[in-house]
Amino acid sequence: MFDQDLLRSMDRTMLADGLLSEEPYRVVEELSELGSRFGGTESERRAVAYLMAKMQEFGLEHVHQEEFTYTGWIRGSASLECTCPVRREFPVIGLPHTGTYEVEGTLHYVGLGTPAEWESQAADIAGKIVIVDAKSPTWIRRGIHRLEKYGRAVAAGATGFIWMRDQGGFLPETGGMPVGAPIPAVGISREHGMALIRLARQGPGGRGRVRMALENKVKELPSWNVVGEIPGSTRPDRVVIIGAHFDGHDIAPGSLDDASGAAVTLEAGRLLAQHRGKLARTVRLICFAVEEIGLIGSRRYVGAHASELDHIDFMLNLDGAGRGGERGVMLQAWPELLPVFKAIGAHMRWPLVVDTVFGMHSDMYPFSYHGVPSADLGYVGEVRTGRNWGHTSADTLDKASPHDLRMDSTLVARLMARVANWENWPARRKTTEEIIQIIRDAGLYDSLKYGGSLADR
Ligand SMILES: [Zn+2]
Repeated sequence: MFDQDLLRSMDRTMLADGLLSEEPYRVVEELSELGSRFGGTESERRAVAYLMAKMQEFGLEHVHQEEFTYTGWIRGSASLECTCPVRREFPVIGLPHTGTYEVEGTLHYVGLGTPAEWESQAADIAGKIVIVDAKSPTWIRRGIHRLEKYGRAVAAGATGFIWMRDQGGFLPETGGMPVGAPIPAVGISREHGMALIRLARQGPGGRGRVRMALENKVKELPSWNVVGEIPGSTRPDRVVIIGAHFDGHDIAPGSLDDASGAAVTLEAGRLLAQHRGKLARTVRLICFAVEEIGLIGSRRYVGAHASELDHIDFMLNLDGAGRGGERGVMLQAWPELLPVFKAIGAHMRWPLVVDTVFGMHSDMYPFSYHGVPSADLGYVGEVRTGRNWGHTSADTLDKASPHDLRMDSTLVARLMARVANWENWPARRKTTEEIIQIIRDAGLYDSLKYGGSLADR
């Protein structure tokens, strides 16, 4: 296990400091004020400088930025018009990675976009512009991600993709498409989407026609992950990582997704840095760039450090931390870590929920794909569906909560202090073949196949 008295004494100072701290909310505020931090923007560059300065101020060492290049995206214009039975424009937003297109065709409403719906309607989808509900139905025992629905639309021969909000009363949702997106894709509010579907049903044979036009720029861009660490006292060559993406979507300050996660990462680092010399393993903090359009920063980090991955004992991703609601350790696999985290929770006197659930849509995934023991600090509260403000222009500072940020920051610091000091860490690195088998066993292979994230990009 670990030196229990030492960890208890560290708890006392981390809790006293962390539960009164104004730092994490200040970080969310300052990151939000910079702008979206979306890949390729001026606010992204300023956020990199800001995060470096903050890591230094918080007592981290070896603070640096790691540059990489990727296929970036710059928003232009997007329009959607019903052309038959009557002409009417509908407000939409273009989805990242889409380029320039102009298509006109018959509208086809797929419904929720479950695997059975795509399969049974395949003959009807070819050559048409599809509109699909963003909802991930509760009775399908896995999430059906936007990328999977888009991939299935492309595979079925659709010529356009309209992504309709699952909840009424919310703004249209953005979200990354695959690099080189072959067909145009736009987001629409539920109200406008349903109105379009009703209007189209009045066309000849119950079919209406729509025209989509998008004009966006796709461009090679540089970006930067920001890294800092607290060197381990007795096992500095063994590394545990706390990571979160700092970019938001281009249409919002991304105060929740994921300025809050980046702030919790920095604050956990600040609390832990005060105990330098008492942490056996090295604790590394990484603020990842360009997560929102394909987990680019974390993929590039893993690629650039391929020869060092054997040294990473654990990676905890914080995409969603600090946003409120109970959080638990959602291990990507490695059931041998369940008793470890249960013991950690018991020693923390914290009702820590731990389970194994594989996820492919945030920055832990590139680590898991390459076999590094990894987890997401996931939401484990009551059933919640939909993204609410997430991925819309309403992801703004007013949604952030100083209290929630403090609670998750102290949780992460206390948790990772124990991980860093755990004596006989039982999880070993897996091969990518083993991981693919885990994905298959979890019934997620379709999600992987259509989501287009099988290989590194
Ligand atoms: Zn996120």
